[in-house]
Amino acid sequence: MKANQERIEQHIELLNRFTSTPGQGVTRLTYSKEDLQARNFIKEKMIEYGLEVSEDGFGNIFGKLEGTSPDKPSVIVGSHFDSVPNGGAYDGTAGVVVGLEVAALFKENNVQPTYPLEIIALVEEEGSRFGGGLMGSRGMMGMLSDEDFKKLADKDGVLAEDAMLTIGLDPLKKKVRDHETIRAFLELHIEQGPILEEKGIQVGIVESIVGLTQLEVTVQGQAGHAGTTPMNRRSDALVSAAQIIGDLPELATSIGEGTVITTGRLNVYPNGANVIPDKVTFTIDIRAGKEENILEAVRRTNERIATGQEKGIHISVEEMLYIQPKFLDENIRSILKETSDALEITNCNMQSGAGHDAMVLSDFTACGMVFIPSKDGLSHCPEEWSDASDLAAGTNILFETVKRLMEEETS
Ligand SMILES: [Zn+2]
Repeated sequence: MKANQERIEQHIELLNRFTSTPGQGVTRLTYSKEDLQARNFIKEKMIEYGLEVSEDGFGNIFGKLEGTSPDKPSVIVGSHFDSVPNGGAYDGTAGVVVGLEVAALFKENNVQPTYPLEIIALVEEEGSRFGGGLMGSRGMMGMLSDEDFKKLADKDGVLAEDAMLTIGLDPLKKKVRDHETIRAFLELHIEQGPILEEKGIQVGIVESIVGLTQLEVTVQGQAGHAGTTPMNRRSDALVSAAQIIGDLPELATSIGEGTVITTGRLNVYPNGANVIPDKVTFTIDIRAGKEENILEAVRRTNERIATGQEKGIHISVEEMLYIQPKFLDENIRSILKETSDALEITNCNMQSGAGHDAMVLSDFTACGMVFIPSKDGLSHCPEEWSDASDLAAGTNILFETVKRLMEEETS
């Protein structure tokens, strides 16, 4: 029996409702009311498909189907269920829904797994609430210390731990997972770019994921009256920030080879129309397929920032995240390819320009990723859309791949 396309479509549609910006895309921030609603839905479905549900000390959700032979590590399928502000219905959610569908196929086909099967729904991949990104997977793999987690707060100063308590999650639960308990991690994700659609190919088998770094820049100036402070007496934090940001596209282009730099968040203080801004914070997101290009972009960015320290302006930079480019598991890639061919699903190899939880997990376990086409290449916006038939095709590939991985001996 094959994936149920109608059910997949319905689950995407139902999760789409859990947004704080109805009519303006999906806004589902970690530990928000909408997180709780989506969480309850996911857990309910996990139970319906015979999985045993648990949550860790970050609120990551696990649904487990025990394997027939004891003490085997799990084959995990899933993705994240948070979103960017005013994002789409598929980023992350598609992978969670496909995970649930894989579990449904195990149940409906009466497949007894030898290894445990786990469906996972991860929190805070986007970093939209607490910054940095990949928090759920990094935390789970022990790459986020308790001390650092306790310090995490959103832009209103709400601590992550307090936000967890607000929706009934327990931050005292076990956080770090022993990586020996994981056999493999498989993630389906929307491509978020135009390549598959343009080529008319159903799935991309991800070869590598670009590396990325995120810097948080704080520009400190001096506040003053917008009417009475002469232009030559100002230390305007926003003007300094804007000049730096304006130079970044050229900097990325000069490095080339697909290097991209983005400033996507900017906060201005005190943010009054008649006050010279005394403080600005903004993010710089740098990505490239080659590590040397990321490092070069960081070096040139820091150099550019250093020249901005003048006339009462002080600028500091903090690296929030650094992740090396990652190659995904060769064995899993070849299984994904064989399975796709056997199912007559058109496929090709791809590089991922976006960061994903799989890049965190690939340091600890064998990982595989499948992309499906994004309409017009759009993502992180309300127009984000993927065809349910591609989601179903992706599910069938993952279902077969999971079974193959369970037949193999752990290396
Ligand atoms: Zn995503």
